[in-house]
Amino acid sequence: MIERIKKAADIIKNAKRITVLTGAGISKASGIPTFRDKNGLWRKYSIEEFATPQAFKENPKKVWQWYNQRKKLIKQAKPNKAHYALAELEELFKDGFALITQNIDNLHRLASNRRIYELHGNIFQTKCLVCDKVYLDEDVYEDEQLPPACRYCKSKKTRPNVVWFGESLDTSMIKKAMGLAATCDVFISIGTSGAVMPVAKLPQIAQYMGRYVVEFNADYSTISMFADDVIIGKAEETLPLLVSLIKRGRG
Ligand SMILES: [Zn+2]
Repeated sequence: MIERIKKAADIIKNAKRITVLTGAGISKASGIPTFRDKNGLWRKYSIEEFATPQAFKENPKKVWQWYNQRKKLIKQAKPNKAHYALAELEELFKDGFALITQNIDNLHRLASNRRIYELHGNIFQTKCLVCDKVYLDEDVYEDEQLPPACRYCKSKKTRPNVVWFGESLDTSMIKKAMGLAATCDVFISIGTSGAVMPVAKLPQIAQYMGRYVVEFNADYSTISMFADDVIIGKAEETLPLLVSLIKRGRG
């Protein structure tokens, strides 16, 4: 494994443009359960009950109660060494660095990454369905306050600014992500299973364009077949090692 990390570090240190894709696996060490975990949050509930437009239409308060609980849980989480390693990588590559994430947990921002594309939204943002404003909302509410009133127009027709199952991703953002996959020198996939479209296409696009694709994951995934190298291990261990080798290589 060390040899593979060294090889990846050698290639990355000479690159100009790095595109990173992250999924739930990177946040696991921060105590945020992944979707597909045996003990994951989603196993205890049926997804259809909470994370779909239908559920919201039928009972917005119930959906909000669930997201309010998740917010409370995620608020206690802190970025781990893998998040910080990516913040260092952005520091090294500056504008050549872009981070695409499927996570809604805000931990990349807390770790000081700046150029972040949140494909699935952010749990700490609320969207008003009346005035269309999206705003930062870190509050955890009392039950009787739910759904929370819009900070701008006071309407109670608000929703968490996250993408639900059965909803499509923001078209301009997915186009941007595809462009970043196609034009980078190195594409790094971290802690994502590649089970969800169109995100799963991103490493494929990078590979098709002849970019170096490297996957960091706890296990092999559908992304592995599009990767030049697969590094199996805990991201909070493998990524800091990768970044320290890149820094050494760049002097
Ligand atoms: Zn509003």
